[in-house]
Amino acid sequence: MERKLMGVSALIVMVVSIALSFLLIYVPNMHIIALKIRDKEMEGGRVSIMEMLLDENQLSEEVNQDEVVDILMGHEMRLSLPSNVSTRDVSIKNDYVNRTISVTIKGIGKDYFNQYPMRGLSNNIMDITYGSENLVGVIDIVLDDVKELKMEENGPYLYFDFIDPKDVYDYVVVVDAGHGGNVPGASKMGINEKDLNLDIVLELKKLLDKNDKNIGVYYTRTRDVNPSFENRVGLANDSDADLFLSVHNNSTASGRMSSISGAEVMYRGGDESGESKKFSQMCLDNLLSALGAKSKGLVVGDEVYIIRTSQVPVALVEVGFMTNQTELQNLSDKTYQKKAAQALYDSIIEYLNTREMQ
Ligand SMILES: [Zn+2]
Repeated sequence: MERKLMGVSALIVMVVSIALSFLLIYVPNMHIIALKIRDKEMEGGRVSIMEMLLDENQLSEEVNQDEVVDILMGHEMRLSLPSNVSTRDVSIKNDYVNRTISVTIKGIGKDYFNQYPMRGLSNNIMDITYGSENLVGVIDIVLDDVKELKMEENGPYLYFDFIDPKDVYDYVVVVDAGHGGNVPGASKMGINEKDLNLDIVLELKKLLDKNDKNIGVYYTRTRDVNPSFENRVGLANDSDADLFLSVHNNSTASGRMSSISGAEVMYRGGDESGESKKFSQMCLDNLLSALGAKSKGLVVGDEVYIIRTSQVPVALVEVGFMTNQTELQNLSDKTYQKKAAQALYDSIIEYLNTREMQ
């Protein structure tokens, strides 16, 4: 059943992609399309610029692609800034999980695109929407892949390029804090697994932020939200990550408090390269020595969606048992969380070092 559903959704994605790849040819016409912005207001006052590409009248407009390529000077998108706006008024937020880059510009109103036409020619753009409130305009660019934004200023123009993470970083690591939002995971004595997972990941983030290797780290969440499983594993697959680490905490099958305790790490048995198992072993060894915990061993975790569908070396760590009184107390302790984070950090660095030597 699941496989059949996947097949159908893959087909839908393919059809939509093919449809979009035709539409993208018309992206150069954005300046014309933008004239219709006022006609097609979306909910919340936002307008979809791509939506207008569907307009028959717009599709019949002549597109001089060479001219657009010249204007773009080899870049993928060009915005024009009004004279009262400088790059200091421009801020960028990249939501890698949702593949959406938000460009916020102070000093532009609803009719910005009428006065300052945008030009673009890109294979990565799925949608562009625009909204403005109190002279702060937000352009949301939805991409088909995880990309870093490269911005270049030249005179009144801002040029954008959407580049692969691996063109920016030597290594890419994706860190996932399990559960979140309205999915708490295990819940014991008023403590939710989602919070413990996030606490440990945020400690790990502090360590990774300080690292001087050129590692790009993407987090599926850094707050109490619940991204879909597809988006979590998709972040790792689409960014072509070197590692995908998912942090969880365990409980007994019955959910009852018990004497069972210890760290366990799941790897992808279907990974014939053995890299998933190799990284998982490092995580387990480092957790055991840092925490002094019992070993629940390495476990094949291919029945778990994010493990099975990971195309990159994956480890899902269960740091400890929330159904064990002592371990639950430990897991809630900041010092213990820091130790766990340090062990995971050491494992990431240790693994990347072996990649370096290959
Ligand atoms: Zn969990």
